Amino acid sequence: MDILKQIDLWGQIAPDRPAHISEHGALTYGELCRQSDSLAGQLAQWLPDDGAPVIVLGHKQPEMLVAFLGCVKAAHPYIPLDTALPAQRIARISDTAGVRLVLTPEHIAEIVKLSRPAPTRRVTPLEPYYIIFTSGSTGEPKGVVITLACLTSFVDWMVNEQRFKEGEIFLNQAPFSFDLSVMDLYLALVTGGTLFSLTARQIASPKHLYQALATSGVTTWVSTPSFAQMCLVEKSFSAVMLPQVQRFLFCGETLPPEIAAQLLDRFPTAQVWNTYGPTEATVATTSIQIDRTILNRYSMLPVGHSKPDVQILILDQSGQTVKPSEQGEIVIVGPNVSPGYLKRPDLTQRVFFDYQGERAYHTGDIGYVQDDLLFFQGRADNQVKLHGYRIELGDIESHLCGLVQVRGAVVLPILKQDKVEALAAFVILNEEALNGSPDDSDFERSLALRNRLADHLPSYMLPRKFYFLTTFPLTINGKIDRRQLAETWL
Ligand code: AMP
Repeated sequence: MDILKQIDLWGQIAPDRPAHISEHGALTYGELCRQSDSLAGQLAQWLPDDGAPVIVLGHKQPEMLVAFLGCVKAAHPYIPLDTALPAQRIARISDTAGVRLVLTPEHIAEIVKLSRPAPTRRVTPLEPYYIIFTSGSTGEPKGVVITLACLTSFVDWMVNEQRFKEGEIFLNQAPFSFDLSVMDLYLALVTGGTLFSLTARQIASPKHLYQALATSGVTTWVSTPSFAQMCLVEKSFSAVMLPQVQRFLFCGETLPPEIAAQLLDRFPTAQVWNTYGPTEATVATTSIQIDRTILNRYSMLPVGHSKPDVQILILDQSGQTVKPSEQGEIVIVGPNVSPGYLKRPDLTQRVFFDYQGERAYHTGDIGYVQDDLLFFQGRADNQVKLHGYRIELGDIESHLCGLVQVRGAVVLPILKQDKVEALAAFVILNEEALNGSPDDSDFERSLALRNRLADHLPSYMLPRKFYFLTTFPLTINGKIDRRQLAETWL
């Protein structure tokens, strides 16, 4: 499918149909196409045709969609960033990516008012389409480059598999800076559907959230399992509140069987799907419909079958394929795998490689194949998922160690029934810092560190608990004994 042509087609045949609705207002397909053409014309005048990325910074505003399409219509990939990110992290991403232009909703509205649609050179299949930044283990966010070919491969697969009807309403829960949002955004736009965005304000207030959902008319629900779990707390969250829902599409973290079962009970005519994949392989690579048969058969739900053009390899530590149903690292090979991390050949070389003429990615996920289905069993490293957010614990540790008050830091997940509930930081303070304020309580110290960290990290990465230690326990190899810390304190 030609994604941009397909979206433009809806602009011609259904110009008055809403492409996007949020509490910020509505945007029709006619406006989306005209305004993105105008923005593209202006960008082509301002920027050399060098494929330099453009940051689009906002929170669920319709102008963000205009900017995404405007950028790629002028052959510039976009970096979607949410305003919830601290200014320092935005500045770091901007420096790493060599960004010359940051578009905010206000800018975009001004530009499209003053310019006219103009023909431009659009992004071609092998060029970067978007770049999504994820947590990096050394404290430096890394930009995953997704080409138009990667995105097309993902969209073609989902459209074929799900057989969406024209004009459906798709729930957008994730901010545009997370690749889960690519699922609802592009599946909505290529099928002439409407993207219904929930803002952080609505999500934070149960009253506003359920009011918004009840008026949304959502037919395809896209969210993390954690978000659905939160919604299920409300008893009226059912087919009475959302009578049109036909399917729930989940991705990004483990789907607990009890969540799938509750959804099937409360939405008897809807399907529940588990999909799996990292940002590095364009949103999702495997999928499976979770019905009663699957629920009865497996206590841990499978993540499913891979898309037809993808090979999943399960490799042991020496890189050899494991025997059937043995566990190992999940490696994804196929056209949806990213070329690599932006301007980081070192990181790219570590986890990406070419395999039988296709791009391949070492996910760092542990899994196995049974009954021809892929099962996810956890991580081989210190990456965790908290409420669907991908976090490298090393990212937080390195920012903690960068604070003058801190001599050493370890961050661990706090688990409840094997699910990450929150984060805990174990900190050794600097003597000088202690001398400066010897009477501070641990509570005051925790608060001070949290506030400092908040200048560098988004709020979902801030540890909930701080433990102040004078030494860390060590393993016989002399490494910090994370297991002992967890067993003693958590
Ligand atoms: P992200 O790049 O933020 O999409 O995170 C990708 C990681 O989330 C994967 O490498 C897995 O560790 C985890 N993940 C994604 N989908 C699932 C799923 N359906 N079940 C369990 N873990 C998942």
